[in-house]
Amino acid sequence: MGSSGRRIPFVYSDRLTGYDMGPQHPLKPVRLRMTFELLSEYGVFEHEAAVIVEPEPAAEEDVLQAHRPDYVDAVRPLGNDKTVPDARRYGFGPGDNPLFPGIFEASLLYTGASVTAAREVADGADIAFNISGGLHHALRDRASGFCIFNDPAIAVHSLLHKFKRIAYIDIDAHHGDGVQYAFHDRNDVLTISIHESGQSLFPGTGFAEDIGLGDGIGYSVNLPVAPFTGDEIWLRVFEEIVPPLVESYGPEVIVAQLGADGHFDDPLTHLNLTTAAWLEAVKTILGFGSPVVALGGGGYNLSSVTRMWTLAYATMLGVELSDQIPDRYAQQYGIRRLRDAISPVISASQQRYARDAADETIRTIRRLVFPIHGICP
Ligand SMILES: [Zn+2]
Repeated sequence: MGSSGRRIPFVYSDRLTGYDMGPQHPLKPVRLRMTFELLSEYGVFEHEAAVIVEPEPAAEEDVLQAHRPDYVDAVRPLGNDKTVPDARRYGFGPGDNPLFPGIFEASLLYTGASVTAAREVADGADIAFNISGGLHHALRDRASGFCIFNDPAIAVHSLLHKFKRIAYIDIDAHHGDGVQYAFHDRNDVLTISIHESGQSLFPGTGFAEDIGLGDGIGYSVNLPVAPFTGDEIWLRVFEEIVPPLVESYGPEVIVAQLGADGHFDDPLTHLNLTTAAWLEAVKTILGFGSPVVALGGGGYNLSSVTRMWTLAYATMLGVELSDQIPDRYAQQYGIRRLRDAISPVISASQQRYARDAADETIRTIRRLVFPIHGICP
């Protein structure tokens, strides 16, 4: 740590790649190591504020803040015995959430990495980044969408010991459903998710009219965008809604889910983002002036997710990286440029459809949510 005292931990261990759902599964744990290696090759960890922090496995009492005891009891033996009778009932099985050896320990480790990042921020770090976290689909009693424990929700719970008002901002291409449901009836956690519409993408939820329950009405904010939405329209939705809400709410801390699967190369979603717009949204989140617990999330194209998280951590440190990927890394992985040099082609009709859908989302949030926060629509 340097004389300025800024501390921006990167929570990482190669052991995090043990969360491995198998060679056919789209979630590739090697993306974590590839990001770590790219940051290392660029020399980013030599920056005075950069520090690599080893993750601790989550304590079960932390996990129980967001999950039912019977679910945790069901996950515990899964890695050892593939004939566990309850596995299917809890969302496990061939497909999205297959069993694998060490599943419980691996789940505790990525979850603990997010708790570690939260603790770093609670202890005074400006930002902490856990690229292995952001598994936002896990439900209270069910694995869902590659996610076993909901580490963002668990991190938020751990922050609630110290902070009274928390904003959760999720820029993954999928709706952050599990995190929203964990807090949708309370107003001390504002959740905002911008995502491809549930009409075309898993998990099929997160419509703009869905604004929370009871005391939490107005504190669950959903910004669906249409498939094929590109940089300009996506960023417009984000910038017209997120800054006014966050500035009015005044969170003491922000938890940011930085899923990278909105990239146009991503095989699982239909958004058309480049590194540029995505990084602009990250900069906006970092610029609110609150400390940030940053988490990873989706990202199924190894090149784009690796480049985007590298750009994000460099941005957190205030380091400008050259577009030229260091030689050794470029040769090993065939990735040559850090930022996208090309933009996807989006047809005029897709553009029109995306613009109309974006306008509708913005109108709905201004009508339903802004008045609750005293923001003039
Ligand atoms: Zn996703």
